[in-house]
Amino acid sequence: YHTLRLILGDQLSSLHSWFSQRDDGVLYLIAELKQENSYVTHHIQKVCAFFAAMADFAKCLKAAGHEVLHLTLDDTAEFADLPGLLTHVLQLTGASRFEYQRPDEYRLLSQLGAFDVPGVQIALVDSEHFLLPFDEIDTHFPKGKHILMESFYRRMRKRFNILMDGAKPMGGQWNFDASNRNKLKAGDMAGLPQPLLFANDISEIVSRLQRHGIVTIGHLEPGEKQTLKNAGEASASGDLFAPLTQPDPELESDIDSASQTTKNTLLWPINREQSLALLDHFCRYCLPLFGRFQDAMTAKHPSAWSLYHSRLSFSINSKLLHPAEVIDAAISTYEASCVHGASGAVDMAQVEGFIRQILGWREYVRGVYWANMPDYAGLNALGAQNRLPGYFWHGNTRMNCMRHAIGQSLDYAYAHHIQRLMITGNFCLLTDIAPKQVDDWYLGIYVDAIEWVEMPNTRGMALFADGGIVGTKPYAASGAYINKMSDYCQSCHYDIKAKSGPGSCPFNSLYWRFMNKHAERLSANHRIGMIFSSWYKMEEAQRDAILTTAEQYIADLECL
Ligand code: FAD
Ligand code: SF4
Repeated sequence: YHTLRLILGDQLSSLHSWFSQRDDGVLYLIAELKQENSYVTHHIQKVCAFFAAMADFAKCLKAAGHEVLHLTLDDTAEFADLPGLLTHVLQLTGASRFEYQRPDEYRLLSQLGAFDVPGVQIALVDSEHFLLPFDEIDTHFPKGKHILMESFYRRMRKRFNILMDGAKPMGGQWNFDASNRNKLKAGDMAGLPQPLLFANDISEIVSRLQRHGIVTIGHLEPGEKQTLKNAGEASASGDLFAPLTQPDPELESDIDSASQTTKNTLLWPINREQSLALLDHFCRYCLPLFGRFQDAMTAKHPSAWSLYHSRLSFSINSKLLHPAEVIDAAISTYEASCVHGASGAVDMAQVEGFIRQILGWREYVRGVYWANMPDYAGLNALGAQNRLPGYFWHGNTRMNCMRHAIGQSLDYAYAHHIQRLMITGNFCLLTDIAPKQVDDWYLGIYVDAIEWVEMPNTRGMALFADGGIVGTKPYAASGAYINKMSDYCQSCHYDIKAKSGPGSCPFNSLYWRFMNKHAERLSANHRIGMIFSSWYKMEEAQRDAILTTAEQYIADLECL
């Protein structure tokens, strides 16, 4: 072989120009690596999804006539890291050229940027995945500055001529948020679509993970008992800032026994065919009401975990799907429904709401990430220092909203945006949880979590730890918001109406504690400052009672 080309686990794009020609002198390397499973503790479904998708991609490339070396953990266990493995494969093959696609994570870009083997020419190529060219990030996202997502999104709409009517937005407005954000009422439940799930056999991967002592969190099968003792519990007595990654020798026997009870199938798509089927399912059954119920949450339906969401994030982030084809599919569905006037028709508010997420938010957070790394990973503007409570690892809490958001994350390696932002994220914001702890949890638990997209969402949007680079105000909310958008409060141990005292909803008093604590910073903020007039209108005794309750809740964080 004259050239070795590396394909990382999130670079599974068959549309990449690398594959437009066959060359017997080019060897493609796809490798499972321990290093990728140890920087945080991942959900078992996430590890399995990546490993299964990598194996399938290797198979497809071979079938298309390419030369492929697919290595499993069994083959790579002896190598400490990626550079060690690459050096070995380059020596073995005698390749004089090494090529890799630009990694999406700073960690991997630095590692590969520093990689050097005497006599081997090294070249980085674009991953050809994002819509905004990498070289333009600095122009759109000045380091340390807030850029309004809405302005960026409008520029992207114009530039790529998406949902445009000449120079004007189609439908006469850029943003249909006001017609979205509905709560799901009892009468809406009957129409909820069943999620399209796959049953990919991952038994061999699960055995491999056990053989190599890879510690994971969460379940393979929804509702499975938490038999895998997890690293969160294992590290609960350790150093607050130690990464939640260290395998505990005790864990291995637990993992062995757990394996005998699992069915070892994976519901996530692992190849292009399944990803396209999921995209089609979304366009047919979910897009018609996507925007309307985008922010809704319920505990009262078997499809409560997925609702009208696409669940395409794994397929897009692993590059099985290109964002442009997802956008095109949504627009085609919209156009077809305009022509045929079919029932279940997609209106502009739904399709715009969806495209905003992909063309707007997804490209935006990637810009923020690259413009601000590596400093971004250390930002803690609000000085939050508390430890993530144990229930993030098992879901046993009396707060019904948290129990559902965490429980389904453990069950499916998935929660939708509002659960991530306004339930778990909001809770971590209000309780001063250290951003590194929160980042590690989000990065580990979600099937779609890769640092470039996880970190600006978590540290930036949810925690305001970047001091306002992503959002101009913290997404802090009391129980009233959760009650407005969900039915969680109806069957909660805590009283949503009570603002203070035992049994009162923790989000209520914690919200005011947060606002009071950061009053100096926030009262001048034009988007949130007016809240303080409500606070100061309260009797002093009421304010004291709220703050006392909140401090008790903070002291008892583990027991809520
Ligand atoms: P849908 O609701 O169907 O949305 C469609 C698509 O839009 C998504 O697949 C995704 O590609 C894109 N999208 C929507 N919102 C965002 C956003 N804020 N940022 C980037 N892309 C977006 N998304 C990830 O892909 N990986 C993460 O690790 C991740 N971590 C998050 C952490 C927090 C605290 C928050 C608040 C959000 C996070 N998100 C993350 C964004 C968003 O929650 C997920 O993309 C979405 O829930 C994935 O589910 P879906 O495919 O059903 O999305
Ligand atoms: Fe969550 Fe409070 Fe509602 Fe309970 S009452 S579900 S803790 S918001």
